[in-house]
Amino acid sequence: MADMSVNEPLRKSPRIGPNAILQLEEPLDRMLGQGALAQILKITRVAMPSGKEMVPQEDVGLVHHTMWRLFPEQAGTLSDRAGVGTARYIAANRIPKAARVMLRILPRVWAERMLTKAISDHAWTFCGSGALDTRRENGEIHFMLRENPLADKVTQPPHRCIWHAAVFAELFSLVLGRPYYCKEVSCCALGAELCHFVVSRDRPTGHFKGLQL
Ligand SMILES: [Zn+2]
Repeated sequence: MADMSVNEPLRKSPRIGPNAILQLEEPLDRMLGQGALAQILKITRVAMPSGKEMVPQEDVGLVHHTMWRLFPEQAGTLSDRAGVGTARYIAANRIPKAARVMLRILPRVWAERMLTKAISDHAWTFCGSGALDTRRENGEIHFMLRENPLADKVTQPPHRCIWHAAVFAELFSLVLGRPYYCKEVSCCALGAELCHFVVSRDRPTGHFKGLQL
């Protein structure tokens, strides 16, 4: 029998870090009024995360997708800001200070490779049951997320995974100390086989940029 004690996340139903919900609160309150997140949680019957425990990925998807249906005009910005907030939390709390210092002084390519590996190793915290593969090509970092549990296949018109793109862009920007951008070039929500994110230092037009203050 397999040793089920070695990998906590595989033992439970797929879960995602609570920040995927909690980081919606500040932008929702600011853009739509205080208590907006609580209202969405009430509608979806999802409990407010304690911040100490992972939350079921179905709950995260339900909250995000309901927000898109209720506030289609604002949802893109809200998702972007929540992704930035999540990346900032991860950078501050999940990457040891010594590693952050080292990543800033290493040659850029080495630092990018190390950060890509760190993200990949902890992918379950923001990808749930999705399978994340990475590759490097022409100086760009590719994240291929198969079966992305947060891809919104319900809302019409369909939209890309802005929250994930913002998490990737801000993680690279914040940890490596210079602006990075993320473009999702294919998306499960738009009928593709996988969600494919490309992180680079080249500024694409109309896409997500880290370090937006
Ligand atoms: Zn997607």
